[in-house]
Amino acid sequence: MIATKGYAAQTKDSGLAPWAFKRRELGPHDVQFDITYCGVCHSDLHQIRDDWGGAIFPMVPGHEIVGRVVGIGSQVTKFSIGDLAGTGCQVDSCRTCENCQHGLEQYCLNGNSQTYNGLEQDKKTPTYGGYSNTIVVNEDFVLHMPENLDLAASAPLLCAGITTYSPLRHWMVGKGHKLAVVGLGGLGHMGVKFGLALGAEVTVLSTSPAKEDAAKKLGAHHFIVTSDPGQMQTAVSTFDFILDTVSAEHDYNQYLALLKVDGVHICVGAPPTPSALSAFSLIPGRKSIAGSANGGIAETQEMLDFCGEHNIVSDIELIDIKDIHTAYERMLKGDVRYRFVIDMATL
Ligand code: NAP
Ligand code: ZN
Ligand code: ZN
Repeated sequence: MIATKGYAAQTKDSGLAPWAFKRRELGPHDVQFDITYCGVCHSDLHQIRDDWGGAIFPMVPGHEIVGRVVGIGSQVTKFSIGDLAGTGCQVDSCRTCENCQHGLEQYCLNGNSQTYNGLEQDKKTPTYGGYSNTIVVNEDFVLHMPENLDLAASAPLLCAGITTYSPLRHWMVGKGHKLAVVGLGGLGHMGVKFGLALGAEVTVLSTSPAKEDAAKKLGAHHFIVTSDPGQMQTAVSTFDFILDTVSAEHDYNQYLALLKVDGVHICVGAPPTPSALSAFSLIPGRKSIAGSANGGIAETQEMLDFCGEHNIVSDIELIDIKDIHTAYERMLKGDVRYRFVIDMATL
């Protein structure tokens, strides 16, 4: 077994503290990489607090993981020692169900192995995430990170990146479309970058008036403060798509009013509590409300290659791991431009 250092939550009220644990020895198809950076996703906070239920403790969060390969199993063909490597939200899946066969491992019908707060495919061994110094992952779930991008700033591509890229590609958002991105945080700012790269006209809908300048700097064409009824009124029936990245309870009906006929409201933000939806928010305009989970492995590699070509990375604030609780507090207040990334050398 491989001795590993990390930060773990022991219960839903404990917060994180240093924790020593063991990872498996390399199997024939395993890759081991030492973690240099790990992004801080709002899902990490939801899960250590057991916001969504079903938490497995001790929990080492982190699913925006990058580093360099230090070991490969005897049969590994996709990686060599010294290669850059990344891992996102899944570390394995059944590989045989209809969805896995179609590259949709995120929707594995037999339950995929989430990178943390999950179980390996033996359905017994807990998975531990990237707030740690090293990780062992089957090569099929390890991504090649573009060499030309800043490594720390590319870590968030592995969740915030793919979670916004995948639905924009699925709904073929592009030139001629008006896209609204709700919530300018980790996911939201990547949604703006991808929306622009795909050719859409992008509007940010935010609760934070202070983010207007920053949104425009990102290239957003328009900015609307959602608490201002006058500004919201000007946007009624104007968007083809809404990409909703909001982490807390909010009123979907208010946003659905902003869609054109046949418009689609795509939920990627995952508030812990349900929210009432009126059929009359959908009926007069044949509107849809949909959801989307991160992305499959092939699509994640496609997104990373796209980012390499278009020079797209996340805007980040690098932190020491000891400051993780302050980072969470600031994230809850919407005070992050736009993703915290842990410098794992500080572990
Ligand atoms: P984040 O950086 O904290 O951003 C969330 C943003 O939502 C905030 O910056 C804020 O933007 C807005 N917001 C917060 N509270 C709000 C409220 N009460 N009403 C309206 N807007 C509010 O979080 P993140 O890491 O981007 O994650 C966002 C959500 O996506 C989380 O729920 C996370 O678990 C989920 N997620 C889902 C997937 C998936 O596969 N579907 C993957 C990753 C994350 P403004 O200040 O601009 O209003
Ligand atoms: Zn995430
Ligand atoms: Zn499957």
